[in-house]
Amino acid sequence: METKRHPAVEIKKTILTPKAIIHQKFGSKACFTVEEVKEPIQTECPGLIPQKGPCLYQCFLQLPELSVVSGTFRKKKEAEQSAAEMALEKLGIHPTASEPTPQEAWESLVARITYLFSEKFLTSLHPLIGHLGATLWRKGDLCGSIPVSVIAIYDTKLFNLCKCINPAVESNPLLVYLYIMRAATKLYEFLSTSEQHLWLKKKSPYPQDITESLIMQTSMPECIQVSAAKIPSSMEKPIETVTLHVSAKEYYLDIIAKELGLEDASYVLISRNVGKASSETKLFFAASRSFFLDQSSDLLNMKETLHFEGSLNVRASYLSGQCIYGDSILASIGYTWKSKDIFYEDITVQSYYRMLISKTPSGIYKLSREVILAAELPSSFTTKTNWRGALPRDILYMFCRQHRLLEPVFSPISCPSKGSSESSGSSLKDEGSATEEIEHVRGTSLTASAKQAEVSGCTFKCEVKLFSKSEDLIIVCSPEGHFKKQNDALQNACLKILSWLNEYFKNNNSPFEMLYNSADCFNIQIHSKNLSEEFAVCHLVRNSQLNKLGCMRRSCTVPVHEMRLFKIEGSDSGVCPSNGSIPCIRYSISLVVEGDNMKELIEACEEFEFEIGVGAVITDVEGVVMQMCVGQSACFTTELPPSELILASAADPVKILSLLSSKPCCMEYAITLTKVTEPMEERMEQALFSPPLSKQRVEFAVHHIIESCAATLVDFGCGSGSLLEALLNYPTSLEKIVGVDISLKGLARAAKVLNSKLVTNSDVDVPFAGIKSVILYEGSITSFDSRLHGFDIGTCLEVIEHMEEDQACLFGDVVLSSFRPRILIISTPNYEYNVVLQGSNAISQEPEEEPDEKSSLPLCRFRNLDHKFEWTREQFSRWASDLAVRHNYDVEFSGVGGSVDIEPGFASQIAVFIRKESMAGEDDELKDADLDHQFNVTWEWNRINK
Ligand code: SAH
Ligand code: MG
Repeated sequence: METKRHPAVEIKKTILTPKAIIHQKFGSKACFTVEEVKEPIQTECPGLIPQKGPCLYQCFLQLPELSVVSGTFRKKKEAEQSAAEMALEKLGIHPTASEPTPQEAWESLVARITYLFSEKFLTSLHPLIGHLGATLWRKGDLCGSIPVSVIAIYDTKLFNLCKCINPAVESNPLLVYLYIMRAATKLYEFLSTSEQHLWLKKKSPYPQDITESLIMQTSMPECIQVSAAKIPSSMEKPIETVTLHVSAKEYYLDIIAKELGLEDASYVLISRNVGKASSETKLFFAASRSFFLDQSSDLLNMKETLHFEGSLNVRASYLSGQCIYGDSILASIGYTWKSKDIFYEDITVQSYYRMLISKTPSGIYKLSREVILAAELPSSFTTKTNWRGALPRDILYMFCRQHRLLEPVFSPISCPSKGSSESSGSSLKDEGSATEEIEHVRGTSLTASAKQAEVSGCTFKCEVKLFSKSEDLIIVCSPEGHFKKQNDALQNACLKILSWLNEYFKNNNSPFEMLYNSADCFNIQIHSKNLSEEFAVCHLVRNSQLNKLGCMRRSCTVPVHEMRLFKIEGSDSGVCPSNGSIPCIRYSISLVVEGDNMKELIEACEEFEFEIGVGAVITDVEGVVMQMCVGQSACFTTELPPSELILASAADPVKILSLLSSKPCCMEYAITLTKVTEPMEERMEQALFSPPLSKQRVEFAVHHIIESCAATLVDFGCGSGSLLEALLNYPTSLEKIVGVDISLKGLARAAKVLNSKLVTNSDVDVPFAGIKSVILYEGSITSFDSRLHGFDIGTCLEVIEHMEEDQACLFGDVVLSSFRPRILIISTPNYEYNVVLQGSNAISQEPEEEPDEKSSLPLCRFRNLDHKFEWTREQFSRWASDLAVRHNYDVEFSGVGGSVDIEPGFASQIAVFIRKESMAGEDDELKDADLDHQFNVTWEWNRINK
């Protein structure tokens, strides 16, 4: 396996605009507002009509932490870039500055600390100002002394300098404390330090007026109550909510120190922000005694000696990605760029569990949908319109952020299409790599060349790479599939990586061999050493977490994987979801304590939409919804999902946890199907054709049936019986009609409609009076059943594209060699027509959420999610002509929707095969196979002659 390091230059060479960097860091949290600025109009000659001066623009940029206003510019874009640049400056992000040497960094570090304690600094908007103000309230020695942890965490410039001194700071942020202390000792004339405490204090006090105004500025309500979550280092102890009572005259870090059993704030260490990109949530924990001892030890050995007493707090370490020892408090409180006032938000036990699940791709997806128990990360990306929740690309970014990996690197590969006849998805696997154009992209905006390529009909593949913070390659995903849009290729590649990572997190105990095998299926190459290094801590936590949860789940009496009794209530409206459609459900999920008649609501949702067939919901929910009609309700129970999910969803996780650990429980689901949006194919066919394309296909078949004077008909892949039912509306010469399908569900629907028509109207005046027998068989049309041999006519409408290509070819051979109908009609979509379908505005689509992006409609590769291929006219005619020749048939081509003469031909292409005169005795050869009954009768109707 290739373990070549990704050349660092490749990443750094890509120069991003300030706006792009802001986008990467904050995504939709960054709000740019551009306003026109009214310039005073210059009129040199009074009396003349003033000429309207050029428009000038100003941009307001609002970020979670700060906001800036740009100067005025002629172009909106310039104003935006300028605002972004200002924000980056404030955030201490220097995209282009080259890194200083460690020696330079040491010098800058000393200078930075000097600046932080200078009077000049007090006029800035820095978060440390708030801390300084608050510490001035403190008594005695502590008055005005700033905890080192606060300096280390709130000054990004300083943190970055420490990273230049030693890149290990990235994985061990506590080194920063030691560097600050070391730098401070060089400033002994200016700063006082303490051997026993981690704080810094300016020796000469600030002028009275400055301190007074600072104290005034740090206004605070009399007393605030902030919830925080306590994470004990012992896994045996549950997470609990604690309340921090912070009063006006107390420094909040001292309160947290007390909560941790510490003397004052200088013993408190602080983690980086955890959770969402915009979060201000941090972990607070104790600096142990050995920490102070280490300070006096040889600084060169610092890395080795920096360890702690007490046990590793696995849960806190997992959340923060850094080693945390002893008990810890998860809280969202502190001074920020936003204002001088203290910022605070309640953190609950539920917040903890949400952060826990946001470490996995499926957890990120669930949270983005606010549906934790019912949703799942879909296994495939069909179109942007069908996708709900955060897009794969965004999830991948969040995942990388959560695990402190570098941002993913995308390499879109554009392949010039070789003429329209080759542009079907399934025939594109053998692209000439010599002609591929590769460009590495950080960030995900479409490049100009990609847009160009899309217009000129190129197809796209996309490779995605993940790197550790130290630029070691961890995973490469290079999917095979080609897409018409670069963005689709990119989303698909992201989803592949995410799906595999999900598996990896779920089965983190599986041996490496299995990992490699599963990675192969996802077109993924893993660099196992880097991978396991990167996720070692995660596994440690997850393993202990899961073991514990495992015990809990075993106490449940419901056998694993069994879904208990469900009932569907309400009348059958006939509107049902199918593959590719988007049902909308209303649901509630409750925890049921067995034998106690007790129910606790965990999750409920009024309107929840998902795509069928891609695994966008848990299997039990999809399975039940597939059996429902709009208006119906269902109820069922299952075993418990992983407890972390229940606790992340429950409003009162503490109560739920006690229920879970006291008695056996199960989950109860109540679902109502409120709406079904049909798959793209049906929507398009109905919107663009009149009569609808499906009706035109049926009419085409009926016309041939009437013309052929057929007495027997078999519909291969009859589905829910649309053709069979339609036939009952026409007077034909048919006596026996048969439908075959592999789907029992489709057959059940077909039986229902046929039954109601045949049984309720059986008098002689009905158009189908001539029909004596109707049978529905269950079976695969690739196998032969002698009972259907030699029928007058066979139909197979829009079926072959639902089978794998080799199976479709097998069916072609079986039907013409064994079933041998006199006439056979096969229809399938014309791939080339998709441009027309997808380019039309006739179907209402959701607006693209990024207006900047190409505002074209989302294209799906095929018309329907369940299609395994779609053929061009040439592919279809080659297949059908070949087949006809081999089995002694004639074939004619036709179609419905569109026209043969106008490009790109018919929407549905149709081949009509006509058996040539058989040679004498040929048909009798069948006798041996007479008892070849492969199909099962699922429903049968026979006319009883009165
Ligand atoms: N002919 C119907 C249904 C088309 S949908 C119509 O025009 O409305 C495609 C159908 O093909 C589905 O019902 C599916 O169950 C069926 N099908 C797919 N593979 C099959 C196979 N190998 N054998 C039998 N039916 C199959
Ligand atoms: Mg189809």
